[in-house]
Order: sequence, then C-alpha cells, then structure tokens
Amino acid sequence: MLSPSSLLRFRKNLLAWFSQFQRDLPWRRDKHPYRIWLSEIMLQQTRVAAVIPYYLRFLERFPTVESLAAAPPQEVLRLWAGLGYYSRARNLQKAAQEIVAKHHGIFPQSAQQALALPGIGAYTAAAILSIAYQKKLAVLDGNVARVLARLGAVTGDLRSNGRWTQLQQSADTLLDQRSPGDWNQALMELGATICTPRSPQCLLCPVAEFCEARKLGLAISIPEKRKKRDTVDITLASLVLLDPKDRTLLLPPPKSCQKSSSRADVATLLSRMWHFPTIQVHQHAELELRHHAQQLFPSLAKLHLIPVANARHAVTFHSIIILPFLARVPKFPRLPSAKSLPLADLSSLPISNLTRKVARSSLLASST
Ligand code: SF4
Repeated sequence: MLSPSSLLRFRKNLLAWFSQFQRDLPWRRDKHPYRIWLSEIMLQQTRVAAVIPYYLRFLERFPTVESLAAAPPQEVLRLWAGLGYYSRARNLQKAAQEIVAKHHGIFPQSAQQALALPGIGAYTAAAILSIAYQKKLAVLDGNVARVLARLGAVTGDLRSNGRWTQLQQSADTLLDQRSPGDWNQALMELGATICTPRSPQCLLCPVAEFCEARKLGLAISIPEKRKKRDTVDITLASLVLLDPKDRTLLLPPPKSCQKSSSRADVATLLSRMWHFPTIQVHQHAELELRHHAQQLFPSLAKLHLIPVANARHAVTFHSIIILPFLARVPKFPRLPSAKSLPLADLSSLPISNLTRKVARSSLLASST
C-alpha cells in the first residue's frame, strides 16, 4: 500500500516516463475507437513487431467499421492470414456488424455494451474504453499483472487463490483518474519494454523506488512459472497437386467435426481456412493419404506421391509434424468447391501458417 504522497509520485514518475519514452506505434497516433479496438485485438497473444504490418494493411483495406462489417468474411481472413488465432478475425467482423446494426457504427462507450460484443473480454474492454474515451477502467492482463506483482512482491501463481482479484484491486487503486488511457498504456509499456518477463531492467525503471520485488531481490522469480500443459504430438500429411503450369489445388475452409479438450480435429489445426487436402496420420502416411485422395478425387489415376521436406508447426499445445507429398497431374480433377492457383503465390486466399509451410516446402522441392 502506498501513502497518498507516494501514490502521487508513483503516478507522476510513470506518466512522465511514458510521455518521454513511449514507442511510436501506429495505433498511438490518434485515439479513434475503431483503430484502438483493432490494435487491441491484433495485439492479443501477438508481438508488436508482428502486428504493425498487418494493422496497416488491414486499415488500408478496411478504413472504417462499416467497411469491415460489409466485407466478405474470406477477405477479412485473407488479410489476417499469418497472424494466427483466427477466431479473433471472425469475432472482429461479427462485432463490427453488431456495432453498425446496434450502435450507429460507433464503438459503444459503456463497459456493459462493449463486453456484449464478440471477442471483447474485460481486459480489451478496459483498454479500448480508457484509451479511446478516457473511461476510468484499469487494465489487467498477464503483462500488467507481472508488473503489479513485482511492485507488491506478490508470490505464487498469479491466476489462483484470489490473487488475480487482488491484482485487479491494485490496478484499480493505482489508476490515474485524470488520464486513465495514458496510465493503462504506461503500465503496459513498462511491462513490454522495462519490466520484461526474463530480464527486468530495474536500473532504468521509473518506479524502481516503489518496487518491493527489487528491494527483496525477487524481481526475476516473480511471477512464479505456471505449469505448462503437456504437448500433444500430431502427424499430418498433405497432398500438393501440381499441374503443368505449376498451379496447385486448395480446398475451402473445413468444418470442425469433433470437440475434444485433449486433441484438436484437423479442421481446427488448419485454422478453418483454405488448405491442401490433409489428413491426420495414424500409421502409414503415404497409404492413408493415397486412400484419402482416391475418396476425394475418384477420377484421378494412381498418383505418384513424392515426399518433400517435413514442416513443423505448433497450435496451442499441439506439436505438429506435417508430411507434404507432391503429385504432378496433367490436369486437376473436377471439384467445384476447390480453387486452383499458383503454388508460388497463394496470397489470393486466406490460408494458415501451416498451409504456408506446406506450400514453401513443396515449392522448394518442385523447383529442384
Ligand atoms: Fe519491474 Fe524492476 Fe521496475 Fe520492479 S524495479 S517494476 S521489477 S523493472
């Protein structure tokens, strides 16, 4: 607990540091709710450097909430392709449609209405409303929780035993009431650039004098590492058909057919985007893929499958090995829902990183 005068100094130090040292990020150039919202969604689980080009491209194509709401869903996914966690893009568009239909195209100002939108949780609502509308809502995510836990020398698993509630209370108490948006961003910035998970730079920290973990020599050991869920190994095999013009065939986004907490279905691993014909391998990749190809394309003569370099991929706790097989065909079988496009450039369709890796590996093999 800080005394009133310490609290004033704490806020002053952090805000002054933020004003001087904050990074120049595209979404900080104005406080437009749509752009703040987009940046907050893209930044979930994703590094700033990775987000910037996506953010700029996305805004160029969808400059307003109306343009996003009216876009073909596949176009939204195409612009998101490579950023991962595609449910974010799907929810973003659903939320845009709700904002147009129910809120005259303006992101709502009340926390209750914001939380009712798809893809908006407590952290995102607090971040958007404080930055765009100066609402007095303190953010708390893993990044901010780490900073607060170090400041108060809170040990143990931060997400258990009521500690999260305790941290939210600290965040609420510390919140600068006059500039909640800057305050929240300052705490996030401190966590992202100075009070980082593995190497907190206490010597450069603007609030070091208030930090209990630094005084006790505990900065590195807070927060306690959470037990990681065991990874599940999965092997997939993908069929990359190639015609004489070096075009390939992709299938449309698959539908999920099973829900299991321990093992995702192939549709989920493919992020429900355009993909090569792909199966989960149980015993013999080539035989099982050949069988799948015959079912999918009965008109195709016996394929000569050429194994190409494996690719590795991770989706949440799944560790995936993908075995791509290349097969040259004189012409593609008829499958109305499939699309043919150059193997060297699949950018006209939304594809996941997994599919991109299969394409890269196959392209290398096809050109040698
Ligand atoms: Fe983090 Fe060190 Fe600053 Fe404490 S003094 S808040 S541990 S950077």
